[in-house]
Amino acid sequence: MTVYATPDRNAAGVRVIRAAGGLMCIKCRLVPGDDVDHAHFRAEGIPAMLDHLDFHTVLGDYVPPEAFVRLRAEYADLFERGAL
Ligand SMILES: [Zn+2]
Repeated sequence: MTVYATPDRNAAGVRVIRAAGGLMCIKCRLVPGDDVDHAHFRAEGIPAMLDHLDFHTVLGDYVPPEAFVRLRAEYADLFERGAL
């Protein structure tokens, strides 16, 4: 599992990971519904997650810059490998 942002490690207002389920924002407050513990946003790809994290930032949630840098670097790697 890859952890891009977590409140424990870099004071992030979000928890973003890549696990078996894909690229996810865990316990995301932007996901509608009352069951926050199971409200996970699952991105279809890195650009979708970057958009999602921009939205968190606009709403005042702290997303560490390194989370954006890492996701963009991974996306660039995919591009260079011809996977996009
Ligand atoms: Zn989210």
